[in-house]
Amino acid sequence: MTNPFLHDFTDKVVAVTGAGGVLCSDFAKAFAKAGAKVALLDLNEEAAQGYADEIVAAGGVAKAYKCNVLDKESIEAAKAGIDADLGTVDILVNGAGGNNARATTDNEFHEANMPEGTKSFFDLDQSGVEFVFNLNFLGTLLPTQVFAKDMVGRDGANIINISSMNAFTPLTKIPAYSGAKSAISNFTQWLAVHFSKAGIRCNAIAPGFLVSNQNRDLLFESDHETLKPRGQKIINNTPMGRFGESEELLGGLMFLADDKAASFVNGVVLPIDGGFSAYSGV
Ligand code: NAD
Repeated sequence: MTNPFLHDFTDKVVAVTGAGGVLCSDFAKAFAKAGAKVALLDLNEEAAQGYADEIVAAGGVAKAYKCNVLDKESIEAAKAGIDADLGTVDILVNGAGGNNARATTDNEFHEANMPEGTKSFFDLDQSGVEFVFNLNFLGTLLPTQVFAKDMVGRDGANIINISSMNAFTPLTKIPAYSGAKSAISNFTQWLAVHFSKAGIRCNAIAPGFLVSNQNRDLLFESDHETLKPRGQKIINNTPMGRFGESEELLGGLMFLADDKAASFVNGVVLPIDGGFSAYSGV
């Protein structure tokens, strides 16, 4: 009997978008460690290159590609490079995503007589909202269009999207990011159904609260140690009473990507959240 928990991605080619970032660089490293040839795609080529160098130095196979997930030509150029350097992509991780301050309100609740200069819901910038929707939703759809074409009928091919806690219940202040991640969960189910007869599975992970570049300033004071009230609220609402480590996403990610372990798992959004999404707060 094969142990489904010993993941072996030898000879698989894995493309990870947003791989210059905190979480997806760890995803890339984990796949490389499990034997995959990994393509690290990011708008920030230098960051992706740095992580690819780390993987290669550790004995893995990896290459970095500059890629804008909002520009089909750029994605197609990266794909052509990957096809030539590493081979056809078997697994796509749509990791590029994030929020933007222009689509974030200052307050959790609308109140009368807010101080002058408070950014209320009425002040949200249309271009900021569009930026967030595009980056998260289109930034998942376009790479899927480009890479899934060659995944059709390919043994073990699958796609992993990155959703979020706010997809289940929106978080205060970030309506665009919440809506966009909700769209990612929905799109994950849509893709799972659409490709179900073409041999491509599609699933998502929904990370709970982890500290990363994009949320550090929202959670901590400038000393990076003292929790802001919002950070404390998150801890209070996470039954396990702590933030997660990005390493704790890897088990779920590898499970979903592994066709031996998850051959009949299709269209799920797996929360990895210390119980946050299960807790009503009471
Ligand atoms: P990060 O900001 O560290 O990394 C995001 C990466 O995406 C960056 O390297 C950035 O250069 C790249 N990127 C941005 N725009 C791009 C574009 N147009 N084309 C290509 N690359 C682009 O973020 P992270 O914390 O590692 O998050 C990774 C994913 O996980 C995101 O989808 C995020 O929304 C999601 N997520 C994060 C958390 C968390 O707590 N960190 C929680 C839930 C979900």
